[in-house]
Amino acid sequence: MELKDLVRSLGPEIVRAGREAYSRGLVVGSSGNISALDPSRDYVVITPSGGNLGKLRVEDLVVVDREGRKLWGRGRPSIETPMHLAIYEVREDVGAVVHTHAPIATGFSVAGVEVLPVNVESRIYIPRGVPVIPFKPPGTEELAEAVKSRIAEYNVVILENHGVVAVGRTVEEALNLNLVVEECAKVQLVARLLGRAVTREELEEKFKGWKG
Ligand SMILES: [Zn+2]
Repeated sequence: MELKDLVRSLGPEIVRAGREAYSRGLVVGSSGNISALDPSRDYVVITPSGGNLGKLRVEDLVVVDREGRKLWGRGRPSIETPMHLAIYEVREDVGAVVHTHAPIATGFSVAGVEVLPVNVESRIYIPRGVPVIPFKPPGTEELAEAVKSRIAEYNVVILENHGVVAVGRTVEEALNLNLVVEECAKVQLVARLLGRAVTREELEEKFKGWKG
């Protein structure tokens, strides 16, 4: 497949997810980035550096190879390209990565409080909770390596003081996981504001025997 046809095929879903992430308050300004792997697994279509996901167009997208060399597109690929590439290396079952700056989930990492699976959706999608990756500067190989080691076992992780990274077979699945984590953090936050900080043990007891 020619690269421009690849962008035409994977691009619309990336653009849709970018707009939804923006309209749902998961990203602001130029934060967040999204990528999708082509079916031959040779190329990655990724959002450009510095772009606003809410105003993203298919023609703004960039294609890189698995080493991160730019092959197509006007702009520069996202600064988190090394993180996306590291994820595809370690997860052969994954076809898309969505990284947002979901503010409530991120706030939990700032406070050092774990996001636990407190509501029914989270029992289905993130039953083990969400691990936090200790802070590493955005856009660095260090961050990419740290994410790689955790995402091998989890579909979604929180980057301390930074945001959420989720994977899926499709962009839609990866975006949905960002939304599930943010919603779960919101529910847990409300419970805490109302005076109740639940523990993992209490949750296990409550949901015992329910698999979702
Ligand atoms: Zn980020």
